[in-house]
Amino acid sequence: MKRAFATALLLLAGAGLRAEGVVNVVTTLPDLADFVRAAGGDRVRVDNIVRGDQNPHYIEVKPSYMMKVKSAQLFFMVGMELENWAQQIIDGSRNSSLDVVDLSAKIVKLEVPTRLDASQGDVHRFGNPHYWLDPRNVRVIMEQIVAALSRVSPADAATFRSNADAYLRRLDGKIAGWEAVMKPLAGRSIVTFHRSWPYFAAWAGLTVVEQVEPKPGVPPTPSHTAEVIDLMRKSGIKAIVVEPFYDASAPEQIARATGARVLRLPTSVGGVEQAKDYITMMDYTVASLAAALTEGGTPGMRGHSHPGS
Ligand SMILES: [Zn+2]
Repeated sequence: MKRAFATALLLLAGAGLRAEGVVNVVTTLPDLADFVRAAGGDRVRVDNIVRGDQNPHYIEVKPSYMMKVKSAQLFFMVGMELENWAQQIIDGSRNSSLDVVDLSAKIVKLEVPTRLDASQGDVHRFGNPHYWLDPRNVRVIMEQIVAALSRVSPADAATFRSNADAYLRRLDGKIAGWEAVMKPLAGRSIVTFHRSWPYFAAWAGLTVVEQVEPKPGVPPTPSHTAEVIDLMRKSGIKAIVVEPFYDASAPEQIARATGARVLRLPTSVGGVEQAKDYITMMDYTVASLAAALTEGGTPGMRGHSHPGS
């Protein structure tokens, strides 16, 4: 009797987690959740693991993440070892029918080392995983998402296709607008905290000349910080791009020494308040960079106040 009651409770719990006829999805990053919602509409239920204000390379694995994955049919990840912690969650979920989709499969990858060694630092051993920051890669990501959702729910394939097409049409319009803003700034140089921006820079026409981290995943050192200051003084670089979750003390030290500005830019949805979804995140990033670099390109000291002089 007790056992039947327990079984009934388990069934109820399962029914609550798994809504009827809806594809249950878990994503690692909120950006991927945004894309899945765009393609899936009301035919999907999406749970996400990393918040946009957390460093995606280092996530503490919690049992609640395994519970999310336990009732999922699909698991979408960036891949290229960005989510070193994901396998532990997948294994811990004991969900043998889970379909794991590595979205990097069809991406044209940057900074892939020719041999495996420590030269790429702690976290980019298989190339640079931050490819979602080139908005043209969203189409590649979206195609994989549509294929996976359609595999799990073939009856909804046409809906997923038309949802995705509508999103990509909207995104294409936004990309044209962002490119128009960035075009006059082509060739400008920036320094970034972490090597998160090569895909974005390649698209936007910017050059990332140096990182505040000596190597990806390795915290700033006094000697490397001094080198960055020297380089930025010589080349007149005006902007240091830092994700909201990194300690800004080294970038601020560099900014004080060089007169450059620290820009806190999100690499994921929710990284700053303005980044409500992928498109508003990119709106914010493009506008912030354009403002900083345009200002930096104006000769003269107008607008700067020098109290006491
Ligand atoms: Zn990274």
